[in-house]
Amino acid sequence: MYYHSTRDASVKMVSCEAIIKGLAPDGGLFVPDEIPSLSEEEMASLVDKTYTERAILILGKFLTDYTEKEITDCVLKAYTKEKFGTNTIAPVYKLGKSEYILELWHGPTCAFKDMALQILPHLLVTAVRKTGLKKEIVILVATSGDTGKAALEGFADVAGTRISVFYPSEGVSKIQKLQMVTQKGNNVNVTGVNGNFDDAQTGVKQIFTDAEFARLAANHNFMLSSANSINWGRLVPQIVYYWSAYAEMCKAGELTLGEPVNIVVPTGNFGNILAAYYASRMGLPVHKFICASNENNVLTEFIQTGVYDKNRDFHCTISPSMDILISSNLERLLHHASGENAEETAAYMRALSETGRYTVSDSIKQFLNRHFSAGYATDAETKETICRVFEQDGYIMDTHTAVAEAVYSKYKAQTGDADTKTIIASTASPFKFSGSVMEALEKDDNAVFGKDEFSVLEALSDRCGLKIPASLANLKTETILFDVTCEKDDMEQVVKDFLRL
Ligand SMILES: *Cc1c(COP(=O)(O)O)cnc(C)c1O
Repeated sequence: MYYHSTRDASVKMVSCEAIIKGLAPDGGLFVPDEIPSLSEEEMASLVDKTYTERAILILGKFLTDYTEKEITDCVLKAYTKEKFGTNTIAPVYKLGKSEYILELWHGPTCAFKDMALQILPHLLVTAVRKTGLKKEIVILVATSGDTGKAALEGFADVAGTRISVFYPSEGVSKIQKLQMVTQKGNNVNVTGVNGNFDDAQTGVKQIFTDAEFARLAANHNFMLSSANSINWGRLVPQIVYYWSAYAEMCKAGELTLGEPVNIVVPTGNFGNILAAYYASRMGLPVHKFICASNENNVLTEFIQTGVYDKNRDFHCTISPSMDILISSNLERLLHHASGENAEETAAYMRALSETGRYTVSDSIKQFLNRHFSAGYATDAETKETICRVFEQDGYIMDTHTAVAEAVYSKYKAQTGDADTKTIIASTASPFKFSGSVMEALEKDDNAVFGKDEFSVLEALSDRCGLKIPASLANLKTETILFDVTCEKDDMEQVVKDFLRL
């Protein structure tokens, strides 16, 4: 199977090249030439498979240049009981009559980015080996919080890789910072940048585009790469859990094979919901994809009107991982929705970069209407939802998942579609955003004012009767290994020192 650029169908590569490159040379994203499908026998066979067996089958459909043994090795290294605390990897929790919470946060960092970032390093190292490149991969990450830690956990001690993460020294929560600066592993480096997230991201981009730096690194046998969410190697592992959830529901007698479901996804960069779309193109029966946003509701407007307009105020919300105005992975959906029309996709992206805005064709509008529904929730609605679900069902959700839940409630009220079984992607442990969750439960926006983050974790644990995840509780006593900050102009030097260039 070949992959081509969303902006130019003549740019073609096999999957391991696409994973190494990340971005296509013309700035587009890699998409498969043809989306594979599962036969009825294969779908039925998923029901009795384990998560890892399901992953091997699904990944094998897309990564056809990897051998079955290579895929199996990658999957078995990534999805272990040791790392996810459960062999189910992504358990499904039934809430009420027709709602199913797909918990994607049992990995080492308590958020769904682990689902992809635990396997990406292995896919990447295998790709480099297969293509005969004798290079060590250097991953550079600028992070506003969750991605940095998930990438560190994924790449730590993976032979043939090194990772250097930069975070804004005053721009992440205390827990997020502790998660990063206590990271173990002989190939990791973590640095605070005196500045905001944009400064960190700009610094990383400069290193990537510095030709002299690239030459120097290449002379020492290093190859720079990124772990961001537009890499096909991050998207394809996310297709697996939608199939897995469906199979689990069939196994539990909650669904009959072939019965359609709705899928609700709290969305930022559009990667997670796009993976659900790919699953449906493979044959997963989906009635509607419901795209949930917070007050940064550029996607809500886009799906409802066909106009994408990023020229609007940016809001800092209590679901910060969705505070995004440019959803990069949407480009892949546009490409498929336009009937794989690369010129049309490229034109939308050009308009976006020149004017911050584009309007899609009538046929794409119809496509969106047919398959998607969209809504958004304010912070107040999100908190009300956390509280309501806990009081009604005793289930506690994080702020991102609660955005999805709130939008699903609105969807049901608007459409009357209350019976279709619905999968809600739950993207973080409530402990990861414990301050906002406590405020919601106490119905008091000052509930954690002045409290230290560890005492908030304990308060939440007492309030809802759940154990604090060990990876968060242990932070209190872990040794700080990276007590360093740098100026934004010194980031390149930091990487040079790390690599001894
Ligand atoms: C990254 C993230 C999201 C958004 O996922 P996308 O794939 O970018 O749409 C939602 N919730 C949490 C907790 C996240 O970390």
